[in-house]
Amino acid sequence: MGKLITAHGEINTPVFMPVGTQGTVKAISNDELLECGAEIMLGNAYHLNLRPGLEIIRKAGGLHKFIGWKGPILTDSGGYQVFSLAKLRKLSEEGAEFSSHIDGSRHFITPEKAVEIQEILGSDIMMTFDECVHYPAARDYAEQSLNLTTKWAKRSKDFLHNTQYAIHNTPNHSLRSGSGQANAQLLFGIVQGSTYPDLRKRAVEELLSIGFDGYAIGGVSVGEPQNLIHEISSYTASLLPENSPRYLMGMGTPVDMMEAISNGMDMFDCVVPTRNGRNGQAFTWNGELQLRNSEYKEDFSSIDKDCGCMACRKYTRAYIRHLFNAEEILGLRLVSLHNIHFYVKLIQKSRQAIKDDCFESFRLEFAGKYITTKRTV
Ligand SMILES: [Zn+2]
Repeated sequence: MGKLITAHGEINTPVFMPVGTQGTVKAISNDELLECGAEIMLGNAYHLNLRPGLEIIRKAGGLHKFIGWKGPILTDSGGYQVFSLAKLRKLSEEGAEFSSHIDGSRHFITPEKAVEIQEILGSDIMMTFDECVHYPAARDYAEQSLNLTTKWAKRSKDFLHNTQYAIHNTPNHSLRSGSGQANAQLLFGIVQGSTYPDLRKRAVEELLSIGFDGYAIGGVSVGEPQNLIHEISSYTASLLPENSPRYLMGMGTPVDMMEAISNGMDMFDCVVPTRNGRNGQAFTWNGELQLRNSEYKEDFSSIDKDCGCMACRKYTRAYIRHLFNAEEILGLRLVSLHNIHFYVKLIQKSRQAIKDDCFESFRLEFAGKYITTKRTV
């Protein structure tokens, strides 16, 4: 548990970061996010660089101004998207050449360019550009890829130093950054190494010797079986320093997140609450509900009686089910909103439990209740 200080405010950890890939958390306004208690949101450098493009965001005065969000923003470098979404043309030591998934236009991204993009966006926390290796990966490939990711991490850090030096030494502080606050931006390194413990260990050691403001575990939940996800992430987490923020990228379900907290992770992001919310799946203190099911046809209770979100205060399961059946936008908005609220509250309660020195009993009680109810729904 701790506090992370950024240029746009403090973040209490552990923290859940709602995902706003395109500069918006799908179907939810920024005011609603704040009402849910969200302290930080995520953006994605790959997507925002392709659309609307950096020039527009720069002219708007940076990403915070462009999207109307005053709190901290973390941007992913786009490494994951370049290797999963774009049509990758060529990977070299220098960088990655790819075609946009939107219009096929060709782009070349280097570790330096990824930092520069995030400086222009003005994100409070930037991520290094890495190769996200999917599962399964042969050991040779994983090792070779890790070598590249480490070199890229070093180049990202060097570039950041140089940029900050340039900014400090020029009268025009907005030289490269849309927000003029490049010197206040934090840079996190990403631990890769696939499912090989010795490679993960090496990745951590190398990143620590370069030195970053925080460390993320990447390349988990990329197709590997559930037991391997936990094994690798908890092993990697155990190697990361306690006095730096530790961020588990792209995971997961409420129960996964709680387990990761007990393994020492501080920061989480996941599209599950909004993606599943748009399909009618709600997360509650008693488990998961599929609100489109016929059993809720005449259920006039709220999604979760223990939830204080706007959807639960004002609407019933029966009504929300009707909205989904009638394909009304409000239905997916309400469930997305509830789910974000639930994730944020779950983390807030975890934080309190850590403070009260009873996190493990809180976690076990939650997990027991969660699974039992899920089975009966
Ligand atoms: Zn609710």
